[in-house]
Amino acid sequence: MIDRRPALIICCANAHDVATAIAYARQHAMPLSVRGGGHNVAGTAVPDDGIVVDLSRMREVQVDAARRRVRAQGGATIGDVDRASQAAGLAVPLGLVSQTGIAGLTLAGGIGWLRRAYGTSSDNLAAADVITAAGERLHVSETENPELLWGLRGGGGGLGAVTSFEYHAYPVGPDVSFALVFHTWQDAQSALRNYREWASTAPDEVSSFAILWHAPALDEIPAEYHHTPVVTFAAMHLGDSAEARHDLAPLRDFGNPIADLSDVIPYLDAQRAFDDDYPAHELRYYWKSLYLTGLDDDALGLLTKINEASPSPHSTLDIWQLGGAFSRVGAEETAFGDRSAPFLLGIEANWESPDDDNANIQWARNAHQAMSAYSTGAEYLNFPGFYEEGEQVLRASLGANFERLIALRKQHDPTGLFSRR
Ligand SMILES: Cc1cc2nc3c(=O)[nH]c(=O)nc-3n(C[C@H](O)[C@H](O)[C@H](O)COP(=O)(O)OP(=O)(O)OC[C@H]3O[C@@H](n4cnc5c(N)ncnc54)[C@H](O)[C@@H]3O)c2cc1C
Repeated sequence: MIDRRPALIICCANAHDVATAIAYARQHAMPLSVRGGGHNVAGTAVPDDGIVVDLSRMREVQVDAARRRVRAQGGATIGDVDRASQAAGLAVPLGLVSQTGIAGLTLAGGIGWLRRAYGTSSDNLAAADVITAAGERLHVSETENPELLWGLRGGGGGLGAVTSFEYHAYPVGPDVSFALVFHTWQDAQSALRNYREWASTAPDEVSSFAILWHAPALDEIPAEYHHTPVVTFAAMHLGDSAEARHDLAPLRDFGNPIADLSDVIPYLDAQRAFDDDYPAHELRYYWKSLYLTGLDDDALGLLTKINEASPSPHSTLDIWQLGGAFSRVGAEETAFGDRSAPFLLGIEANWESPDDDNANIQWARNAHQAMSAYSTGAEYLNFPGFYEEGEQVLRASLGANFERLIALRKQHDPTGLFSRR
């Protein structure tokens, strides 16, 4: 999907290499991008005719079990951090697909299965090592360069190259309760209404979402439903299995599901549950988002129509349940912005052929436009389309924090070496 030709890709082995690469870009006034996990859907890690500071060989993870801290190099993936953390019985709040990089994820927020228990990845960023455009090497924490820590927590980057991220970690697993329930399209509306009621009272140990999409061809799903529209509810519960059975029952017992794949499974498996839906280099992606003010019946009706109009069976409309710890961080406490919305809508156009680019991108844009009537107007910076709206996406995501973030970027990167948007 991302077809760009950088002039130079510098594969870094350590922070010294990163500093050398930045100095070279500065001296030659070349555009520069850092590549973490390379998963940004807008392709912002790759500039045309510029320099890629590639951190994909910097993936070391160290766990301090006594302090419940996990330190990872800037090129680590979610899977790298999960494996090392779980070996010590810990987990860091990260995202849902294990190949995603922690860097881009954290710098723009980071929401996953632990968001309602422990917040975003960026909320749990305790410290970081940053190399600025001027080549300064800064340690960042609550007490050292705290304004920079504020900006790294969800401001979308552009403040320098982060060579290491240090996170708060929590005892999780080794097993967790994982719910995955599929309903027919005929029952979609009633099942979604039931989900809305359940989500408003579910405890913080649960993070869930509803997916409007087309059923994958899994053995556990009757063949007649394969590739037809369905609604799926997915949830992770961190409590003990009896508590989880009780709390997830309203979701699992409702109506007549066509498949219920819920189980108690290793946390590491749950973290990989959707990996197969995002095969490397096989699909094309265009993702947008909107924070929703609620999920009234009109909004649900519109969402079902949008799913029916999807030109690709791989595309999804994801309704992420928010609240809990996610919502208890003040809008100005971190650069991330307002947390008051009860749901985030992810509009994921995912498709196979370049011939279908226009139809799929237009579907996502139409969905975004139509659903904006039910939104707070804010967007999530990790699902930015192609950044074709430029600064507008950053404003829509950061809200009142926008000016403060821009001032911070100007302070640490006056010539805009790192700023692509
Ligand atoms: C399959 C898939 C699943 C996803 N699932 C989730 C999810 O569950 N939750 C969620 O919140 N998001 C999710 N996302 C979105 C994801 O968080 C963003 O795409 C994020 O940008 C990926 O980070 P990365 O390091 O892999 O990206 P990259 O493309 O490497 O980088 C993204 C941006 O950050 C900059 N950057 C990268 N590394 C550094 C660094 N070390 N220092 C400074 N700047 C850096 C890059 O220059 C670029 O602008 C998913 C994306 C994909 C493709």
